[in-house]
Amino acid sequence: MRTKWAARGSRTLLALPSERTYEGWKLYSSLEPCHMCLAAAFQARVGTASFASRNAYGGAVGKLVPSRDHVARPLRVEGPLDCAAGLLPELLLIRHFLWRSPDGDVVRFYREEQPGLVAAAEELPPPDGNGTLPGAYATAAAAVR
Ligand SMILES: [Zn+2]
Repeated sequence: MRTKWAARGSRTLLALPSERTYEGWKLYSSLEPCHMCLAAAFQARVGTASFASRNAYGGAVGKLVPSRDHVARPLRVEGPLDCAAGLLPELLLIRHFLWRSPDGDVVRFYREEQPGLVAAAEELPPPDGNGTLPGAYATAAAAVR
């Protein structure tokens, strides 16, 4: 994704010292890693990437063409969670873009591909509203059912 947060994620991975590898480490992410973060996890030789929620718009799991090095040293990927916690991060992503850029590519994509998720995200208050985590989780739980 082209967000400062995502860029920070991949920059952090690439800043790990290269004198060693990280096969025993696990990278946790609320959203499915983007192409940059997933590639950085491969490059740092992180053992496992675990994410809670799909990112249908910007997620890269299963979309990278593996190099010979990646085949020889695979990255184990876990996710998404099969519960409300596995939906909430994607709903928050959609809600953010409904607020920030309602006519942009992200919202357009979700309206075309996942209209049910847009409807659920519209139930959430905007990022500058008075939302609470329990309230957002309840919205996600209702959408999972
Ligand atoms: Zn990323």
